Amino acid sequence: MSANRAAGPTTALALRAVPRWDAEADVVIVGLGAAGACAAIEAARAGARVRVLERAGGGGGTTAVSDGMMYFGGGTALQRACGFEDSVEEMFRYLSAACGPEPDEARIRVYCEQSAAHYDWLVELGVPFKAEFYPGRMLSPGEEGLTYSGNELVHPFRDQAVPAPRAHMPQKEGQAGALLMQKLCAEVERAGVEIATNVLCERLIVDEDGRVVGVAATEAGVTRHDRAHRGVVLCAGGFVNNREMIRQYAPALRKARFRASTEGDDGRGIRMGMGAGGAAIRMSMGSVTLPFYPPKQLMRGIFVNRYGQRFMPEDVYQGRAGEIALLQQEGRVWLVLDDESFERPVFAGGEVHAAETIEELERELGFAPGSLAATVALYNAGAERGEDPLFHKAFEHVVPLRTPPFGAIDLSWDKAIYAAFTLGGLATDTLARVLNADGAPVPGLWAAGRTAASISSPGYSSGTSIGEAQIFGRIAGRSAANA
Ligand SMILES: Cc1cc2nc3c(=O)[nH]c(=O)nc-3n(C[C@H](O)[C@H](O)[C@H](O)COP(=O)(O)OP(=O)(O)OC[C@H]3O[C@@H](n4cnc5c(N)ncnc54)[C@H](O)[C@@H]3O)c2cc1C
Repeated sequence: MSANRAAGPTTALALRAVPRWDAEADVVIVGLGAAGACAAIEAARAGARVRVLERAGGGGGTTAVSDGMMYFGGGTALQRACGFEDSVEEMFRYLSAACGPEPDEARIRVYCEQSAAHYDWLVELGVPFKAEFYPGRMLSPGEEGLTYSGNELVHPFRDQAVPAPRAHMPQKEGQAGALLMQKLCAEVERAGVEIATNVLCERLIVDEDGRVVGVAATEAGVTRHDRAHRGVVLCAGGFVNNREMIRQYAPALRKARFRASTEGDDGRGIRMGMGAGGAAIRMSMGSVTLPFYPPKQLMRGIFVNRYGQRFMPEDVYQGRAGEIALLQQEGRVWLVLDDESFERPVFAGGEVHAAETIEELERELGFAPGSLAATVALYNAGAERGEDPLFHKAFEHVVPLRTPPFGAIDLSWDKAIYAAFTLGGLATDTLARVLNADGAPVPGLWAAGRTAASISSPGYSSGTSIGEAQIFGRIAGRSAANA
């Protein structure tokens, strides 16, 4: 969204180079989005003196411009009120499969175990949820509180874990991130946390033993130094807005035309952690959304790559569609439809090609002779029997494509909307402590939210970003307060 900014030097500053302390606290938190607010609340409740440093004029971050969908389960009060059963074990099974190929099982387990209680915690803070299920795919235009937001009902995940809807949405029409942040920030203030805004944090301060003891920042053009007696928690968002870091670590994400972010996602938090010895991991990973539906009818089409071949079931969640299309098919994909299934995507854009026969369409798209015709013939043969033997698309979306004219919507990266944010970041453990390259904690340093590497590797399900920002933010706050 915002212009790229090159982040400045982030190497840690030696304690002996600090001329004076401008402020002191037990726990200093960098950034006041979902992760920072949750860390601040828990650290203050644990009895610590807490100071939050935020570069913007107020709290909110990317969380405040988001849809506010949160992935919780394991039998939350909302799931039960809407008539759905779920368990920690089924949620763990789903996320372990969906956050592949190398799921961080230890952190996923904590996330699942704390999920239902965290939902209650949000309700206690006054975040409203309506006990109504939304059966559509993705965001409801209304106020329903619960829906499916991942691949729970999609092959192969539907066979690996008992599906349950886990996307929890605050009661509000449209985007709910601002409401969520309003409630969290109100609690931060009630908890007695000191908040300093318009303070751009730049470097961590470390003592002679390598322990993080403070933060160097700029306020109104002047450098300041804030001492942290127990520790620093980095909650400064991701790096999708740092062109140089994207070029260096996640070049495939350059093709995503919409950066799901705000200005703070410039990678500075991650680089500050690296400057103090933290390891940055899974830096090439991103959440990539291709909103090819609504309308849902488009799931009746077939996605093909530049070889005219299918490569995924078309009932996948938009986040998996985007990841597969951009990261595995180099962003060159077409959605092939017939006259009965054709509609234009509401959000994705794309360029439409039409022809009277599949062979003509194949020629127009420049595919090898016979390639698309063979793909459609194979798909139709299965569809006549109500099956999709290759990719196991759900029965309700499997219909032969045989009514001319035929169409192909070019949903390649340069024609359609792909929305991305980064999932790589600082390595952390189940206590949200930042780890160095040997896997040992960097003393005095914690991280949560998009500054920390996600539980996805990749394999995103909508709502886990704000979900993990909150759960591991709270853990980080408690852990730092008790250090
Ligand atoms: C349109 C849109 C819709 C989305 N919808 C969803 C959704 O429904 N569900 C979901 O899970 N995710 C969603 N996301 C992604 C999600 O919003 C983010 O991944 C998540 O909010 C990150 O939370 P965070 O606490 O890590 O960072 P943020 O909320 O961005 O907070 C980081 C804070 O740190 C501050 N900061 C940064 N650098 C510094 C610095 N150097 N010094 C001081 N302060 C600093 C920032 O200003 C910011 O306030 C969406 C994103 C967008 C753009």
